[in-house]
Amino acid sequence: MTVWDAIAGSRAALGVAKQLAFREAPHAWLLLGPSGSGKRPLSVAMAAALNCPEEPGVGCGRCSTCLRILRRRHPDVHHIVPEGPLIPVDVIRENVVPEAARSPFEATRKIFIIEEADRMNPQAQNALLKTLEEPQPDTTFILISEHEQELLPTVQSRCVIIRLEPIARLELIELLAGDGASAEDAEVAARAADGDLEAARRIAFDDDSRRRRKRWLDIPRRLTTPSDALDAAAEVLDEARIAVKELEAAQRDEIKELADALGEGRGTASVRQALVKRHKRELRRLEQDILVEALQVVGSFYRDVLLLRHGNEQGVGNPDVANELRSWAESNLSDRVLVNAAQRCVDAQGGIPLNANPTLAMEAALLELARTVQPPLGAGAV
Ligand SMILES: [Zn+2]
Repeated sequence: MTVWDAIAGSRAALGVAKQLAFREAPHAWLLLGPSGSGKRPLSVAMAAALNCPEEPGVGCGRCSTCLRILRRRHPDVHHIVPEGPLIPVDVIRENVVPEAARSPFEATRKIFIIEEADRMNPQAQNALLKTLEEPQPDTTFILISEHEQELLPTVQSRCVIIRLEPIARLELIELLAGDGASAEDAEVAARAADGDLEAARRIAFDDDSRRRRKRWLDIPRRLTTPSDALDAAAEVLDEARIAVKELEAAQRDEIKELADALGEGRGTASVRQALVKRHKRELRRLEQDILVEALQVVGSFYRDVLLLRHGNEQGVGNPDVANELRSWAESNLSDRVLVNAAQRCVDAQGGIPLNANPTLAMEAALLELARTVQPPLGAGAV
């Protein structure tokens, strides 16, 4: 096993793996590709391959360095993620630029993974540019983006560009089956995840994700009155809280691990501070992710009803609730109502990270669905 197993099936990842195995490591990469094409898993596999002491250039996937990097818990691998809609210029000026000038704490290379790099506005991108132009020899940047046109040409020109494609359904099914998923689970996960390997793995193997998905799929049937909508929104928030609690426990472990590893030596305060900041961001992010996940699944339900009604059975993303979908498809709900409902979910997903109060955004979306989409009589529990 190596760190690359998680992204087997991606041609682009294979190319990068080869390059790193030959110890060719440019100091800045830009990973481009649609959502779910494996940019994030590729970025952490790269970080591990660059730092693994057991199999340098490969990443053994077993040593403490690899494991901590894969779990995003390594003090020399910095994940920069948007705070709200933006990666503010202050984050680049205060956290990235000075940190990039320091030597790695314990690894051979210090790595910055900038997720949704297009959320740096031009000011932030320009602040980063100088560091990209005159890099420290032991620092690597990995920028990730779905929106290439939002990145300044000057930034792009400093990076080696890797383009990723979504993974084909059959390939995804094979990968999941190879990891031990049953044929049925692999099929459901591959369809529901729509080319997104990370999501597919979660749906196939992670009990919490599976349980949540079942709950979310049951929401459309329950939305008949405003109070149903508020109940459903409260459940989504409860699930988010459960997930946040679990993450908090893992973060406490990480703080302890770090304290054990660091002792009280000089320069450790900044590492600790950075960790606390990162933890806060991760918690906020996770809460948003769960809300977005719920809206995405609810939206996929309405979309599936339309697909089924119009004879596109192959396109259905939630084949495990086919009977429920069919009773909706045969009801007298109009296409327009279903299209609007699916679109409302997509809009709300986009709004969650931008909204100061995601709870209200969630409630507003579900209230509108309850008002506009009357579930057909006789639709049963999923
Ligand atoms: Zn390793």
